Amino acid sequence: MKRLESDSASGFSDPVTYTCTCASSHTSSTSTHPSGSVLLYYRYWAAPPALPASAAHLTSDTNALAAWYSQQTATLHLSGKIRCAPEGFNVTVGGSTAEISTFISACAAHWSFSGLGLGSSDTVNQEELEARQRFFKPSPGCACVFGPKASVRVVAEATPMGVEGYAPADWEKVVALTPAAFHAKCHDERRQSVLVDVRNHYESRIGYFVSPLTGEPGLRPPIRRFSQWPQYVKGHLDELKGDMAGKQILTYCTGGIRCEKGVRWMQERLGDGETVFTLKGGISAYLDWMNAEIQEGRKTAAESLFKGKNYVFDARGAIGLNEQGTPVSRCLACNKLSGRLDKCRSEGCHLVVVVCEDCQSLDPRCCQDCRDMDTLIARGEERVGKFVPRPMCACEKEREDQMWAGNRVKKPKTQGWRKGKKDEKKGGQGDVAPGDVKIKGYLPMSDRTSDAENL
Ligand SMILES: [Zn+2]
Ligand SMILES: [Zn+2]
Ligand SMILES: [Zn+2]
Ligand SMILES: [Zn+2]
Repeated sequence: MKRLESDSASGFSDPVTYTCTCASSHTSSTSTHPSGSVLLYYRYWAAPPALPASAAHLTSDTNALAAWYSQQTATLHLSGKIRCAPEGFNVTVGGSTAEISTFISACAAHWSFSGLGLGSSDTVNQEELEARQRFFKPSPGCACVFGPKASVRVVAEATPMGVEGYAPADWEKVVALTPAAFHAKCHDERRQSVLVDVRNHYESRIGYFVSPLTGEPGLRPPIRRFSQWPQYVKGHLDELKGDMAGKQILTYCTGGIRCEKGVRWMQERLGDGETVFTLKGGISAYLDWMNAEIQEGRKTAAESLFKGKNYVFDARGAIGLNEQGTPVSRCLACNKLSGRLDKCRSEGCHLVVVVCEDCQSLDPRCCQDCRDMDTLIARGEERVGKFVPRPMCACEKEREDQMWAGNRVKKPKTQGWRKGKKDEKKGGQGDVAPGDVKIKGYLPMSDRTSDAENL
């Protein structure tokens, strides 16, 4: 089986805090307000509105597309993550307001954006301007939320779901709703609906949609990375079919990309009986729309169906509505309501946890196992490192138990450890449940690289 993505990049997962050091910030005595922005966008060539046939031949040269991004980001001093795949692209970039604006004009004139209605010159009409806003989804930030240089890579999948060769049989089987339509659908009392969060467990812990009819959040799978989503759906298919029968299924993710293939993959397994929707532009687009509704006086922040914060895969950590509501998560140290993200400080753990401002100096660990581990490391009785398996801590054990509940498979026992290249080349399926599709060799634990790909 061929490898679907490169996991060879070293280093740790994204930081969840940053300090702006570029010219984009206006620093006052009390705070820093970046005046730049961060774009978050993607495209699958085959997804409607599809790339015009006249440009189709250009998609095979992913290296050329990557080279175009390298040149653009270098010239305009943008930073971010750019992934170019045979099926499309997945991009997030940050920079100053002026440079981001120049970049958007360059994009609109490039073949890879044709057919999206973004206009192609600097004289754009109102409709095209709005289309650009919806497509690029700018949010406050700057190049500093990423590393010093843009990371541009050619990959097998625009976002790593890890199912070899999968493409939706029919993109039209799942309907994308605008934020306004998604909001209205949640209020629809004529037909019951179920909300499904396609993101990772640490993302859906600090923010999620609630049904206005029940006040409850929907399904939030205990997955650690997107490549566990297919395994989750397969392993829990009977349960999902039962829960979803006859209901409208309303799915969402951060910026929309994970739902594109992930939800269609689920829909194909649930069968044609169900009506499945995705949120176009994800939570990011919903928050933009809600902010505008609030600003225009049409809605209040309390009416937002998204509660808490939207986790983003850069150093901003998470973003909420302009008018901050009550956090939905609690500090792991003092149990106070907080939406502030941090990482377990235990070497090799890297679990994303919630730690309030007051407790951050306490050097928090996610659980007693991690505290014990650090005591052993300090005494020289244990060691951890890139190639040293680490026993799973209690938090991870609990999550994995939920993940694999009901599946007769061997559960992974270590953390911060990935299967070797040799196993993947042999087609080793690791601990993946048997089934009709090939799923990339299961990577037991670590959110070092692959988690960060879920834009
Ligand atoms: Zn900056
Ligand atoms: Zn605290
Ligand atoms: Zn830990
Ligand atoms: Zn733990």
